[in-house]
Amino acid sequence: MEYPPLPPFIGILFGGLFGLMVGSFFNVVIYRMPRGESVIWPPSRCMGCGYQIKFYQNVPVLAWILLRGKCKSCGARISVQYPLIEALTGLVAALAVGFFLQPGSGYDLGFKIGITYLALASIPIFVIDFRHFLIPDMLTYPGMILGLGLSFLPDGMTPLQSLTGAVGAGGFLWLVGFAASLLLKKDAMGLGDVKLVAMAGALFGAPIALFGLIFASVLGCLVGLPMMMMRKLNEHRHIPFGPYICVGVLLSAFYGRAAMDWYMGLLGR
Ligand SMILES: [Zn+2]
Repeated sequence: MEYPPLPPFIGILFGGLFGLMVGSFFNVVIYRMPRGESVIWPPSRCMGCGYQIKFYQNVPVLAWILLRGKCKSCGARISVQYPLIEALTGLVAALAVGFFLQPGSGYDLGFKIGITYLALASIPIFVIDFRHFLIPDMLTYPGMILGLGLSFLPDGMTPLQSLTGAVGAGGFLWLVGFAASLLLKKDAMGLGDVKLVAMAGALFGAPIALFGLIFASVLGCLVGLPMMMMRKLNEHRHIPFGPYICVGVLLSAFYGRAAMDWYMGLLGR
């Protein structure tokens, strides 16, 4: 028996709702992972009074609005970051489902799953790296394993391409960081950045990952340097590079090919 096809908006709606719940989990990840705490146990508590938040007070976005951003028990303010992260994650998940359902996009299944993982993981990476200058392994290691696993799908990359992507792109950034450390006589690059690029290599192959690094460096100069100067060079003299890598690789995955052609055209082929 044939079933009528599901209207795409149903899928997108459910994707968005699922994303809201993932966003709720991301809030826990963002708070606890840099502190080395478990993201599963114990359940969420108010930071003001320790009041254990009931499951129905944990409904993404809606709960924050209904409680007017305050703890039910002690009235302490709950940061607007919580509903924002939830809404953003819902939006990204809805977009990802739309991308999956888009007919004839020409992208293979492995690429679509990889893009979804990167786009979602970018959200906690953004906040954690900006705040704590670190990228948790708990976000990059699963991405590496996922990339290698997806390469066994019939279309898209081969396992060898995935492996060389991880080692090649990650190794390249490690070498750059190592050279910079020798020149500047201090640690110039976090290993988290290297692992993030290795994850991009495992998911999308070396060319996209390396091209993503170029995009990330350009973005870092355009956005990061003015920000650093406005803050008059913060003490660490540190730019969190992870967010730029995430955006760079996302851009490169979709537009790397076109950018490459444009550049070759400039050179007169
Ligand atoms: Zn409270």
